[in-house]
Amino acid sequence: MTNKKIYLSSPTMHGEELKYINEAFDTNWVAPLGPNVNEFEKELAAYVGGGYCAALSSGTAAIHLALILAGVGRDDIVFGPSMTFSATVNPIVYVGARPVFIDSDAETWNMDPVALEKAFDKYPEVKAVIAANLYGTPAKLDEIRDICKDHNVPFIEDAAESLGSTYKGAQTGTFGDYGIFSFNGNKIITTSGGGMLYCMDEDKIKKARFYSTQAREPERHYEHKEIGYNYRMSNVVAGIGRGQMKHLDEHVSIKKDIYMEYKDAFKDIEAIRMNPYLSCSEPNFWLSCITIDEGSSVKPLDILLALEKENVESRPIWKPMHLQPVYKGSDMIGAGDGFLCEKIFDRGLCLPSDIKNTREDMDRIITIIRSLFV
Ligand SMILES: *Cc1c(COP(=O)(O)O)cnc(C)c1O
Repeated sequence: MTNKKIYLSSPTMHGEELKYINEAFDTNWVAPLGPNVNEFEKELAAYVGGGYCAALSSGTAAIHLALILAGVGRDDIVFGPSMTFSATVNPIVYVGARPVFIDSDAETWNMDPVALEKAFDKYPEVKAVIAANLYGTPAKLDEIRDICKDHNVPFIEDAAESLGSTYKGAQTGTFGDYGIFSFNGNKIITTSGGGMLYCMDEDKIKKARFYSTQAREPERHYEHKEIGYNYRMSNVVAGIGRGQMKHLDEHVSIKKDIYMEYKDAFKDIEAIRMNPYLSCSEPNFWLSCITIDEGSSVKPLDILLALEKENVESRPIWKPMHLQPVYKGSDMIGAGDGFLCEKIFDRGLCLPSDIKNTREDMDRIITIIRSLFV
């Protein structure tokens, strides 16, 4: 029996990336800035919705700059999802602000608009809202956007995991006042590492580029009126991004096949549910996830360990931020009693969703999981 390692989600390169990297080398545009950076920004902006982009060193940097552009500062309050990767909310602390965490809804696992409304009642002074589209599944974006508009508070949409997903026909990352994308190693496309800030306001994007290159004033000497950051994407990295963009739709399509295959393979096992999404949305299916009903004798950890024994990588659901030691003492707001995200974390698992998985790989994974339920 083959025991080749199966990954959760690893980079998939196509060779075309090298063309742009070689161009960068041939023209000695290896430093930050250069034609690949400008073109990658234009290509991504055109793909998602025709606004403007600033190419940055990471998605985390993009969230940090979005908070600065939104005017968030010391001792301000920012609402963020509890169930997410820590990078969604850590930049709130970078700017000296304080996160208040919001529970997930059952239909998307993302920020619950009902809980968000409750949070506004409790903290009317809130300065910004960050919501994420986890695992590529769009949040209830219209509702979240409308609530933020009603309260006149900027909405930062963390689309780090959802590039290529749509909600009511529009690309995710375009619903917020600011959208952010990530090209980290395991995302739907990767540049080895990198991020993008998206905004309809070109002046904001120009300002982001300014902050990301040490806030250097347009003088002959080095003149600084504001604190800057070294957050710009390099021209070599942007070359990888340009090559990857050509394969984004193909990646999404294979990810969807993987999700549908799992869904079909487990349809007769009542205790297993796939991660849900709204019928008005089309996820990019970045990671296929399941939850196992509380009554089942099989726990998510049993599956993780059974897969691990066979050299197959799976991963727990993001552990909620309000349960993280580093965020101890932060407020957490749900729609009712108890917090749904704790249940999803307890009962959930991310399944291997690598687009290089072969027919045999998928069969191997499914057989291991099914064997636990007989
Ligand atoms: C990956 C990720 C980020 C951060 O992106 P980096 O490019 O790794 O800094 C932010 N939010 C979410 C939800 C992510 O998955």
